[in-house]
Amino acid sequence: MDELITMTAAQLSAALTAGEVTAVEVTAAHLDRIADVDDRVRAFLHVASDDALARARAIDRRRAAGEPLGPLAGVPVAVKDLFTTVGMPTTCGSRILDGWYPPYESTITGRLRDAGAVLIGKTNMDEFAMGSSTENSGFGPSRNPWDLAKVPGGSSGGSAAAVAAYEAPLALGSDTGGSIRQPAAVCGIVGTKPTYGGSSRYGVVAFASSLDTPGPFGRTVLDAALLHEAMSGHDPMDSTSIDAPVPPVVEAARHGDVAGLRVGVVAEFSGEGYQPGVMARFTEAVELLESLGAKVAEISCPHFTYALPAYYLIAPSEVSSNLARFDGMRYGLRAGTGSAEEVMAQTRAAGFGAEVKRRIMLGTYALSSGYYDAYYGKAQQVRTLIIRDFEAAFGQVDVLVSPVTPTTAFPLGERADDPMAMYLADLCTIPTDLAGNAAISVPCGLADEDGLPAGLQVMAPPLADDRLYRVAAAVEAALEDRWGHPLLAEAKGLIAK
Ligand code: GLN
Repeated sequence: MDELITMTAAQLSAALTAGEVTAVEVTAAHLDRIADVDDRVRAFLHVASDDALARARAIDRRRAAGEPLGPLAGVPVAVKDLFTTVGMPTTCGSRILDGWYPPYESTITGRLRDAGAVLIGKTNMDEFAMGSSTENSGFGPSRNPWDLAKVPGGSSGGSAAAVAAYEAPLALGSDTGGSIRQPAAVCGIVGTKPTYGGSSRYGVVAFASSLDTPGPFGRTVLDAALLHEAMSGHDPMDSTSIDAPVPPVVEAARHGDVAGLRVGVVAEFSGEGYQPGVMARFTEAVELLESLGAKVAEISCPHFTYALPAYYLIAPSEVSSNLARFDGMRYGLRAGTGSAEEVMAQTRAAGFGAEVKRRIMLGTYALSSGYYDAYYGKAQQVRTLIIRDFEAAFGQVDVLVSPVTPTTAFPLGERADDPMAMYLADLCTIPTDLAGNAAISVPCGLADEDGLPAGLQVMAPPLADDRLYRVAAAVEAALEDRWGHPLLAEAKGLIAK
């Protein structure tokens, strides 16, 4: 395997800065890898070969001219296909946006381009980020590089698969109910949902605006932190963007240390439905934290049990409003003939998949007068109770931990016709989205039953994102002896060339 594709972003950055390798070489190596394996992994919807090489050449020229460049200059980044990108299509995994080239750039991809990162392509996703497997993509599913018959998780499954398959060292995702952490966990990589408002939503096609949070993927904790830092910060173009300094995540990732840290194990996230191998790795990770000097206690968050039903009222309600703009007039697909109303109806019937339609109907129902108080109003009250559970917990501990998702990667097709089973993948991740705080998924080993990766979820209070990296870096370093570092060693049977 080409050495350049197995290097971490931090290593690539050091080699680029030292002049040992050029951005063109790094980019070409990753494009070659995509050409070799992506017919099987199907992580990408669009590979930006020419644009990526042109930008890499520009970075090499600037470096040769002695310009000071940031840490990600020349490092490839794969982009979930819901960030608007000038010069690249943006589909959100939906047929309704097939062929749409956005006229403007998302704040985050713009910042990354300015920092010299090389955007290598757009990755597959569940349609409009609704799903946990990428099977809701209008363009066919991505596959898990650990086992091509399994899902890579979702909705940011293409991004996670690309990083796990060494097609890119870094990738962007978005997390509304777990769509960064769950795919990271089942692909054996690191993924972070930053504090809501810590990363800009401008140019990120809206799913549920009060929940949507862009965030990073990497194969190591430090890599995720490097991307987290580069993509974050106040954006006047996003009205919910937080005007506060970015938490010192890179610094924290370099100094994993949990001595004296108070860690709460969420009591509600265990028991029936949790795969034994996932629980075994989680329990070991908690014991490990204790052996490293953390003070571990069990914490009850009684309302977390209601997070999933509350989410499936709040998210679809926002969907019913946000997706009204796809009317066959403004973007992408236009189907049918007749009056404007008929064209709209036919376009939406042809362009949206089953899950998107299900949520538009659910949300429209939940928001209709007569039901609003009973459904949407109640769900918002539950949301407040979940925020209070977090506040009470963080009065006693510095971070909370749980498994990321109850099982390892499941077979393609297994849950495709069973929305409830699919929704359960996000049981442990949704409370953080509803409350707006921060959480990370860090690999904690392989489940005995199937040899597939399991993830440890660490949750921190809003704007304490650095704590996540401190804990995750400590876990990563301590697990190195047992599982190898990064966890995804070539020897683990990942698809070969
Ligand atoms: N799987 C969840 C859903 O379908 C979460 C998706 C997400 O975080 N974007 O809504």
